[in-house]
Amino acid sequence: MNFDRDHTIFIDGAWQAGQGAEKLEVLDPSTGSSIARMATASGEQVGRAAEAAARAFADWSRLPGQIRADYLRGFARGLERRAEALAVLQMANSGKPRLEASIDLGDAIATFDYYADLLEQLQQSPNSETSLGEGSHKGRVRQEPIGPAGLIVPWNFPLVTSAWKIAPALAAGCTVVLKPSEATPLVELCYADLADEIGLPPGVLNIVTGATPVGKAMTDALPLRKISFTGSNAAGAQVMASAARRGIPVALELGGKSAIIVTEDADLDLAVECVITGIFYNAGQVCSATSRLLVHEAIESRLLEALMERVRSMAVASPLEDRCDMGPITTPAQFRKVENYFAVARSEDCDCLTGGHRLDGPGQFVAPTIYRHVDVGSRIWLEEIFGPVLATRRFRSDAEAIALANASDYGLAGSIVAADPERAGRLADEMVAGHVWVNTPQIVYPQSAWGGFKSSGIGRELGPWGLASYQGVKHITSAP
Ligand code: NAD
Repeated sequence: MNFDRDHTIFIDGAWQAGQGAEKLEVLDPSTGSSIARMATASGEQVGRAAEAAARAFADWSRLPGQIRADYLRGFARGLERRAEALAVLQMANSGKPRLEASIDLGDAIATFDYYADLLEQLQQSPNSETSLGEGSHKGRVRQEPIGPAGLIVPWNFPLVTSAWKIAPALAAGCTVVLKPSEATPLVELCYADLADEIGLPPGVLNIVTGATPVGKAMTDALPLRKISFTGSNAAGAQVMASAARRGIPVALELGGKSAIIVTEDADLDLAVECVITGIFYNAGQVCSATSRLLVHEAIESRLLEALMERVRSMAVASPLEDRCDMGPITTPAQFRKVENYFAVARSEDCDCLTGGHRLDGPGQFVAPTIYRHVDVGSRIWLEEIFGPVLATRRFRSDAEAIALANASDYGLAGSIVAADPERAGRLADEMVAGHVWVNTPQIVYPQSAWGGFKSSGIGRELGPWGLASYQGVKHITSAP
């Protein structure tokens, strides 16, 4: 497969050749071979993309919501038409098993449809009244689009993270400049193809490809009035610092080290399903991966045995193989990082039940890994590995489980598996996390909220909160 493209920059409704000094070498992580060489945007092109977004903003933000909703549905239907091609691209560039590639696609489609629906509902009442006290002035509130927005995304769910930003931003009336990750830049180019196909007004959606320098040029681009960033805490801090210099708002979706709590009365099969998918889906490269298992001591050995049995039956392979339960690590840098954590675990004498090593042969494959009785001070317990590495501990009481779960700098997500619904609900309430699943594998509805407490970020995506992220509140006070 070869996906070489020179025209990878989409500005003001037209494709352009990238003029950046850097070229991107896009890899297939299952083989390590190059599948595309791509041009990147120059700083000047990023500036032009931001200006195009600013020019388009005046008309786009004033369009009736129904028309913007129709465009959003146009994106959804266009994604459906390209389903097979996009699945193949994601399998090739991200190493996602086919099922996971199609789940990503379904998620992106549902997000565009959801914001189209929400926009139609809101059209019926664009204003809301505020009560200022009897006989006094009249108050009215309008939600206004915040302005042209810069969207910066990572490589683990490229189609989805972009949809989670593009759809609410366009729904709110914002225009956007999107920067895909340098590791997986191919799949998101479809959003520009679709913009062209559905006749989206020029400048409403612009795409610039490239690595950190392109991201930095975006955060410095004066016409952009908001930066929505998803990625690592280190880069998020830099984005926030740039935004702080200009005094513009940021939304940050950052890392996690989420816990899954399994109580002694839990359905064992369900617990196995939730633990396995919570850490091995997308080869563990999931911000909300439940990478810390807390299991009640009464069922610890039974659960660990059942988990081992599942791991033994997993096919770790290229998504092109007949059977693939878990694909490779997507980027070479992430592959090195996971391998380094295996070395850390060895140096810390972690009790490795299974895995703890890379797989022989070509490609960036590692074994699904479980460490048991991991010390609370261990780096394996505390740090986000972003790979298929599970750290486990046992607990004796719910209070101990919650204390262990919440003893983290992160607060993105969490899971509870418990038979007693009241107890499960109480544990969910006490977990410090932006999204908690109870007795279900991780599933994210566009209607729900996404984002974290503590160092996991600032702001929320999805649902009405995702729309609000691209809006500013205007209060109008009128004479009585
Ligand atoms: P990363 O921070 O290296 O890169 C993310 C994006 O930011 C890329 O497009 C990159 O080019 C760009 N970038 C890097 N430095 C920048 C800078 N100084 N200024 C502007 N842009 C910059 O992250 P990654 O390795 O691509 O993704 C993995 C991380 O993303 C993990 O920590 C994971 O937890 C996090 N993540 C979080 C969520 C969430 O919803 N909370 C979702 C997915 C991934």
